[in-house]
Amino acid sequence: MNSEEPGKEERTSRLDLNRHEMPKQPPEVRRRNFSEVALGYTTDLAVSEAKRCMQCKKPKCVSGCPVEIDIPGFISYVKKGDFAGGIKKLKEKNCLPAVSGRVCPQEMQCESQCILKNKKGEIAIGRIERFLADWEAAQGEVEMPPRAKPTGKRVAVVGSGPAGITVAGDLILLGHEVTVFEALHKAGGVLTYGIPEFRLPKSVVAREVDYVRRLGVDVVTDFVVGKTRSIDELLCTYDAIFVGTGAGLPWFMNIPGENMNGVYSANEYLTRMNLMSGYLSPFSATPVKKHTRVAVVGGGNVAMDSARTALRMGAEEVYIVYRRSHAELPARLEESENAEEEGVIFKTLTLPVRYMGDENGWVREMECLRMELGEPDASGRRAPVEIKDSNFRTPVDAVVCAIGNSPNPLIPSTTSGLQVTRRGTLVADAETGKTTRDRIWAGGDIVTGAATVILAMGAGRKAARSIHAFLS
Ligand code: FAD
Ligand code: SF4
Repeated sequence: MNSEEPGKEERTSRLDLNRHEMPKQPPEVRRRNFSEVALGYTTDLAVSEAKRCMQCKKPKCVSGCPVEIDIPGFISYVKKGDFAGGIKKLKEKNCLPAVSGRVCPQEMQCESQCILKNKKGEIAIGRIERFLADWEAAQGEVEMPPRAKPTGKRVAVVGSGPAGITVAGDLILLGHEVTVFEALHKAGGVLTYGIPEFRLPKSVVAREVDYVRRLGVDVVTDFVVGKTRSIDELLCTYDAIFVGTGAGLPWFMNIPGENMNGVYSANEYLTRMNLMSGYLSPFSATPVKKHTRVAVVGGGNVAMDSARTALRMGAEEVYIVYRRSHAELPARLEESENAEEEGVIFKTLTLPVRYMGDENGWVREMECLRMELGEPDASGRRAPVEIKDSNFRTPVDAVVCAIGNSPNPLIPSTTSGLQVTRRGTLVADAETGKTTRDRIWAGGDIVTGAATVILAMGAGRKAARSIHAFLS
């Protein structure tokens, strides 16, 4: 037996240990502040959790990870207290561990596959990942990886979300010159303008963006590709282009009253709060109106983020209005539980049908229908079916519509030869990210439709490999 491998006694004693809970701010405190809810593992908790890992020879957790991180590998360093070794191992496959450790749906990916899941609880892989990333940041100096000799090739990356940042970080290390063009005044994509401070502090995102800048990537903000310059114009000066413009075009239900004051898309609401610093109201330059009764329509992460933001902005009552049942909520379990603990009221099996307003055009009431679950639909979930004559009204003074997003059509509509699907997503090869036009690659939500941070990073990594092969 390898001396690193645990003996039978040690394996059995590990199985006696329960998964370690994440320390959090208490619900009654955090519901009124924007500080991070999850406080992170202490060193003792991280090492103790790492010691529970069985170091499986064929680790199932790795097959659940979209970017195939060597999970037992980085956990084995934590177990020994070698955090520098752990973060190095982790960063071999994941360039944004502080982000993914906080927002990845681990319960549906790596952790769902862990062999301890039905025993004493799956290993808290995400929490250990976050611990390592925060440990590295607390050291002050992050180790800069070596950069290959300059190749003289130039790559433009459009969009600074996780897909774009990953492509840029990978290609700069391979010796290419990289410029990221971002439409907004701050880089980071949804990590900056969408996910709220209490779940992903802006300082964590700024740290990651700063890291790629220090590697040598030029990040140009306030630059809308398709308006400021077209893709064809960029192709005159760049050898290759990666399009990672995300899915930022909000859907509405198209029901009466949706154009009233006080009815927001989640995109607008969260952008005002995060990017425009509305969460610092009344001290920010762009304060946001205070609402008393807020209905958030939808059941995903975006809906939970909007509802929890509304609570923190001082609303007395916040509802999640969702047409299926609690069991079908698409949000991460951790986030819907957090919302519930904080006092968000869940009105499930409920469908808004119209909004009513006052004489000044401000929304004052919503009319809804009660629903029941029918046969499974195309998504495999039981379809919501209206209960006839079940209409009822609820007073509200703000509605946030969080029912989904499509890709922004600007780049496809201003670039010839880029094939687009019926859903408005760009057609790109799943393995390389190559689009239907020469020298243009794409990845992240613009290709998949609204998905996850880790999938966007994975797509960025594959595209970087393909772009490098092309440039070489
Ligand atoms: P984005 O992050 O959308 O970045 C695209 C960038 O391109 C943006 O900065 C945009 O301004 C810029 N851009 C667009 N058009 C142009 C243009 N023409 N010129 C220049 N720049 C342009 N995922 C998870 O895994 N876990 C979560 O908990 C989670 N929570 C979420 C909460 C919210 C509120 C939202 C909205 C999404 C959440 N997601 C979550 C999804 C996740 O954030 C996205 O899947 C991911 O950010 C997609 O990355 P991307 O790089 O493809 O695009
Ligand atoms: Fe450790 Fe679970 Fe992965 Fe096995 S499956 S290596 S126990 S994290």
